[in-house]
Amino acid sequence: MLTDGIISVTPMSKLKMLREHPDFVRVAGYSATEVIKTFDLPQKAVDILTPYWIYVGEPMDNLPFTIYAYCMADYFAGSFVPRHRSHEMSMKMQRRVEENGAQFEFRQEVDKILVKNGRVRGVRTRRGDEIACDYVICGAYPNRAYTQMIEPKSEVPEGAVKFVNGNRLNVCPVSVMLVIEGAPEENGITNYNTFSGETMDTNEIWRNSRNITEPYNFITTVCLNYAVPDCVPEGYTHLSITNLVPVDPFLNVKEEEYYDLKRRLANEMMEEYIKVGGVDFRSRIAEIEVSTPMTISHYVGAWKGSIYGYSHSMDNHVIAKKAMMAEDHFIEGLEFAGAHGVAGDGQGTQITNGRAAAKGVFDAMAKKEAAAK
Ligand SMILES: Cc1cc2nc3c(=O)[nH]c(=O)nc-3n(C[C@H](O)[C@H](O)[C@H](O)COP(=O)(O)OP(=O)(O)OC[C@H]3O[C@@H](n4cnc5c(N)ncnc54)[C@H](O)[C@@H]3O)c2cc1C
Repeated sequence: MLTDGIISVTPMSKLKMLREHPDFVRVAGYSATEVIKTFDLPQKAVDILTPYWIYVGEPMDNLPFTIYAYCMADYFAGSFVPRHRSHEMSMKMQRRVEENGAQFEFRQEVDKILVKNGRVRGVRTRRGDEIACDYVICGAYPNRAYTQMIEPKSEVPEGAVKFVNGNRLNVCPVSVMLVIEGAPEENGITNYNTFSGETMDTNEIWRNSRNITEPYNFITTVCLNYAVPDCVPEGYTHLSITNLVPVDPFLNVKEEEYYDLKRRLANEMMEEYIKVGGVDFRSRIAEIEVSTPMTISHYVGAWKGSIYGYSHSMDNHVIAKKAMMAEDHFIEGLEFAGAHGVAGDGQGTQITNGRAAAKGVFDAMAKKEAAAK
């Protein structure tokens, strides 16, 4: 059963919607394509409603309608960009948590989660400190925790390895982040967010995104000037061009090919956007950063660069994940919070996943206390 303790307070919380609108649950067994077909909309309208799919990383035929509907509802409701971006949100959360008595340790990496007889007994940091504890909420992917972090290895339950292997990773970003001389209009950019490509057939886009030998046929761009006008000095443009792709093709890239690939992808993505804006800004680039799944994996430790956790697909969606939550719990005292959690990916959803993990710890503590009485 769903309980209040793990339900996000946001109006669009997935779990809250599912609990309060039982009719909505009935569409959970249908894909976005199947439900949209029943609307009898003109193809042009369907095409306009389609592009946001890329942010959930599953073609419409394999994307549960419920997930698609949440995304679209958020999209139509409008969104906010914090003045100092996501870092501002993190800083605010840090302050709030510290006010409640917690302590942050920056520049520390947990290397090992120490387990004895199926129970957490502490962690060891990369620099060698051992911290004894009864509970760990792990932000690293279960893939990393179960394959590299649990010590001793003999404490990794067989079910945990099956769980990791049974989940398909969601998409990873390939991004080109640019600061360009000239105001956005001079660079052919007239709005905050653009989706563009030669087709809106998501199966076709999905096939194309698995192939890194051809130019991507679908990109999204964000021009931050339109949300935060002073994000760059006056007379400059802040533009990011992104494609969200499966990690698989990147796993076969040889080290000596990597930088050439990165440069080629960046150039192709810029060319694709130049077709939309009509202005070739490449001679005016003041700063450029290119990131691939490797970059994300290297800098934030996201497993194979997946920023969205595990895929939400017709055979593995939030209701199935929720139903399996107890069975997917393998080591006493070890909870997970992050994009790989039940509620899924994105910055807002991480609060729901964090609440669920905290509730898991509080429930276990209460049970232990009750047993001791
Ligand atoms: C370019 C880009 C654009 C995005 N845009 C959006 C957007 O517009 N809206 C949106 O909702 N989402 C967006 N996302 C996705 C969103 O950022 C992620 O879904 C979300 O941050 C995932 O949260 P997380 O806690 O799982 O991982 P993270 O935010 O990556 O946090 C994990 C943290 O754990 C730390 N860590 C990992 N392993 C260890 C360890 N062993 N010891 C100690 N610390 C460790 C990492 O350093 C990191 O700080 C975007 C992501 C990218 C890359």
